[in-house]
Amino acid sequence: MTVTLFTLGGTIAMAGRPSGGVVPRLSGAELTAAVPALAEYGLDVRDAHAVPSANLTFAQLYEVVDAASRAVKAGATGVVVTQGTDTLEETAYLLDLIWPHPQPLVLTGAMRNPTLAGADGPANLLAAVRVAAAPEARDLGALLVFNDEIHAARRVRKTHATSTATFASPNTGPLGHVIEGRVRVLTRPPRLPALTPAAGGPRVALHTVTLDDDGALLPGLATTHQGLVVAAYGVGHVPAGLAPVLGELATRIPVVLTSRTGAGSVLTSTYGAPGSETDLLSRGLVNGGLLDPYKARVLLRVLLSAGAAHEDIAREFTLRA
Ligand code: ASP
Repeated sequence: MTVTLFTLGGTIAMAGRPSGGVVPRLSGAELTAAVPALAEYGLDVRDAHAVPSANLTFAQLYEVVDAASRAVKAGATGVVVTQGTDTLEETAYLLDLIWPHPQPLVLTGAMRNPTLAGADGPANLLAAVRVAAAPEARDLGALLVFNDEIHAARRVRKTHATSTATFASPNTGPLGHVIEGRVRVLTRPPRLPALTPAAGGPRVALHTVTLDDDGALLPGLATTHQGLVVAAYGVGHVPAGLAPVLGELATRIPVVLTSRTGAGSVLTSTYGAPGSETDLLSRGLVNGGLLDPYKARVLLRVLLSAGAAHEDIAREFTLRA
């Protein structure tokens, strides 16, 4: 049994510096040395990046997936990626969309850096490695393991700025738990086909609708961006004045309608006023369903990089949202 570990930086790998503040500095060897129980997993450690996760790019993550694919083809039982928690819900979903293998791809990080009392990095790393090595975790795509909970990358959210229990899956709950070191998978969502994006990145904007929003940022958007995600009110509502602006944009680039609430779905046919979900969908917006705005943006960008046409995009959102 071997688990390959890729380290990308983040709080889990941070240490102090003389001028103050912690920065990503610890190597994978230093992270694993802090957790003696990891010795039994035959870890193959690769230091890929040492950055705050706000700096990560799609291109870097595609490279990590390529290296992880080579590792499982060479016999690794599973893969763990450590990184900062700030972008973890987006990177985990990106990896889930493109990971084609049965072997688990498990992401984790830490909320308390190693200089603090009760740092959570060592426990999260050990739980993540246990999941990556577990036969029960096969065929579940990318997973996020944190605080002894196992979450589907497709459903997980960062819900708190500082709590060690920040990760939650509001629509489903966790898929399972690590209990006394044992991996327990309680529900198994069906696996969706992996996507194959090309290198390079189309630009996808995210516009959060707010009170008295006049949408002044929106009209020129199709000249700079190839797609737009709208984080709308409630079940998919915007001020009436924005509906024709979004409808016009939807004739030029894909525009995906999501809810800014953090849980629950965009509806399809309940409300009928101008700016309602029914109105916006009839103007050609794509229904983002249960996907939160951040995940919808990742999916739209991957679909555009894979060369998807408008009908393919609508079909994929129906399948994956
Ligand atoms: N700012 C840090 C990062 O995302 C936060 C963390 O790791 O928890 O890199």
